[in-house]
Amino acid sequence: MSRGLLLVVSGPSGAGKGTICRAMLEHRPSIRLSVSATTRKPREGEVEGLSYFFLSEDTFRGMIDRKEFIEWACFCGNYYGTPRATVEEQLAAGHDVILEIDVQGAMQVKSKFPEAVFVFVLPPSYEELEKRIVGRGTESPEVIHERLETAKREYTHIEKYNYILLNDYIDGAVERFSAIIDAEKLRTERNAETIHTILESK
Ligand code: ADP
Ligand code: 5GP
Repeated sequence: MSRGLLLVVSGPSGAGKGTICRAMLEHRPSIRLSVSATTRKPREGEVEGLSYFFLSEDTFRGMIDRKEFIEWACFCGNYYGTPRATVEEQLAAGHDVILEIDVQGAMQVKSKFPEAVFVFVLPPSYEELEKRIVGRGTESPEVIHERLETAKREYTHIEKYNYILLNDYIDGAVERFSAIIDAEKLRTERNAETIHTILESK
């Protein structure tokens, strides 16, 4: 069984990362979506252990101290982190695992897992981003403003990612994400064993 791909998805708040990642679960059933821990308060409809593990700041800090996160970051006043154990288990079991995380966290993953694939989700325009984050109706005007300002900083890191994923239409974005995964699985450096077997066969 070959190890799964570690896929890192970032992009500005409201670009559609969550929507794309949830759709990917139906499109490619073997994919797993890492459930992060956060100190942010749950939004209406979010489910503990499914959307996030909603933790107190003390509990979150305890996990940092025990090195239980692959990466963690503070985003717009709340802490977010990727619990290590499940991700390691799922990769070892051959599942492709998506981490939907911010740019700061993605850069930590890049230094620890250079083989991971980094995808930056782009909205069609800044105006459309604003429309989507407002339309989602989950944040106050102040938080929306802060997230849109953060988006401008996040864009400056885009070249550290391997792929852009334009989220104009959700179906198209999901198809293209799936194509990225298929292509990554065919890279020579991920297929050393197959290449060796074929070249050594008589
Ligand atoms: P993120 O996870 O990047 O913060 P979400 O997935 O929550 O973004 O999407 C933000 C809002 O935009 C949601 O209301 C979602 O339904 C909507 N949305 C996502 N993708 C599209 C799209 N391709 N076209 C129009 N609206 C979209
Ligand atoms: P939200 O509050 O909208 O769910 O998430 C806010 C931001 O935090 C998004 O950019 C999201 O990708 C990021 N995020 C979610 N989970 C994690 C995580 O485990 N680590 C990091 N670094 N960022 C995360």
